[in-house]
Amino acid sequence: MQKEQTSNALVWYRNDLRTQDQNSLYNACSKHEKVVAIYYLDPRHFEYDDYGFKRTEVFRAKFLLESLEDLKNRLSDLNISLFVIQDRPENHMPEFSNNHKITDVYYQHEWTTYEREVEASLKQAIDLNWHPSYDQFLFHPEDVPYDSKNIPEVFTQFRKRLEKETCVRSELTASKRSQSNRIGNTPSVPSLPDLGFDLPDIPERTAFPFEGGESAGLNRIEEYMFQSRKLAYYKKTRNGLVGIDYSSKFSAWLANGSLSPRTIYWSVKRFEKAFKKNQSTYWMIFELIWRDYFKYISLKHGDSIFYLGGIKNRAYNWSSEERLVRKWINGETESDFVNANMIELKQTGWMSNRGRQNVASYLSRDLEVDWRIGAAYFESMLLDYDVHSNYGNWMYVSGVGNDPRDRKFNVQLQAQRYDADHRFRKRWLQTDLFS
Ligand code: FAD
Repeated sequence: MQKEQTSNALVWYRNDLRTQDQNSLYNACSKHEKVVAIYYLDPRHFEYDDYGFKRTEVFRAKFLLESLEDLKNRLSDLNISLFVIQDRPENHMPEFSNNHKITDVYYQHEWTTYEREVEASLKQAIDLNWHPSYDQFLFHPEDVPYDSKNIPEVFTQFRKRLEKETCVRSELTASKRSQSNRIGNTPSVPSLPDLGFDLPDIPERTAFPFEGGESAGLNRIEEYMFQSRKLAYYKKTRNGLVGIDYSSKFSAWLANGSLSPRTIYWSVKRFEKAFKKNQSTYWMIFELIWRDYFKYISLKHGDSIFYLGGIKNRAYNWSSEERLVRKWINGETESDFVNANMIELKQTGWMSNRGRQNVASYLSRDLEVDWRIGAAYFESMLLDYDVHSNYGNWMYVSGVGNDPRDRKFNVQLQAQRYDADHRFRKRWLQTDLFS
């Protein structure tokens, strides 16, 4: 491919904090000699929302900073400098691109309101060649047999056609730059106190003891799939509640893009070739299709994923009673199963999928509290917060989304089924046992 010698590329990192299988990085390196990278720690992500929750709490902030530190090192191995800037992109990028004689910007296309607005104001302020690309999907939007307006409302329909008709693209590897591409004196990655946080005191019994960053994410794939081979049992264990291995824990790396879903997919395929292909290996991919599905639903429905009536535009008699919300958040409801899950979230930023389904159903269907308050609390707290998965799942469980059967969880029966020996509840309710 002919390189454009006189043009300089900027890779504007968003939720795609990796070097392996990174479309923007790959394209920038294929087409330009000079490549520099930037990430904005936008202060708006750390403000309080309308419900009084910090948009990003300490657990995800810590994970993000670790991810950026790792990204800086990995890019440095490619002779690419990463600038991590605490500012709004609109305030900083115009002067930066001018100073570095940037001609082209490569970035992941995001479609939620705030991200669209940022992009629009940048484009208005700076006259550059903008190269957005979808890089968050397993199945690329150009390859799926639907356009965004006719995505089926039922997951099974969506999945079956995709599995028959669509292939997952191969992984991309960006080429290394020459030494002269490096820029001296890039600012160091800010610390938690720089972002206004104290260091968190995370209990050792956390189910998510992992660090942020692509290197840790790739290690987790290696460990979960190829060393312990737990992937072979995933379908049997995935509803678990205790420990690190009942599920993959890939979500946090996927959420900020430290891992590409295609890397996970192709690792599963490698595992199947080397060891075993079974229902569990299939189910890992099945769950990744759920992840894609909520992104496609969000593309289709736009901002209605944030509305009270959801994508179904359905009216219920919702309450927003603060007392009920406080009890739910603090693990003081009448259900010890809900309480244990909520305490785990509060202390660690993590909750299992089984836990999330139950606490969400309890808040919206039993307490009949406005589901968006729960979703906003999850947004604040979750290590793996992903706008589409979070709001999509909340709508689903709350009866305003894609569940064709409109189910409600019986939290007592669920506790008996998934925590019969009370191991999970003891772990989070009797804190003195573990401190
Ligand atoms: P595994 O069971 O190992 O699954 C592998 C991967 O498949 C996950 O990493 C994830 O990317 C994907 N996946 C699995 N289940 C789902 C699902 N139900 N929806 C979408 N993708 C799925 N997931 C997030 O990544 N971010 C969120 O903000 C989020 N909010 C949620 C809110 C509620 C109310 C509920 C019920 C679920 C939410 N989930 C969210 C989905 C799911 O709970 C997590 O993806 C899962 O628990 C992560 O653990 P894991 O990586 O070990 O998953």
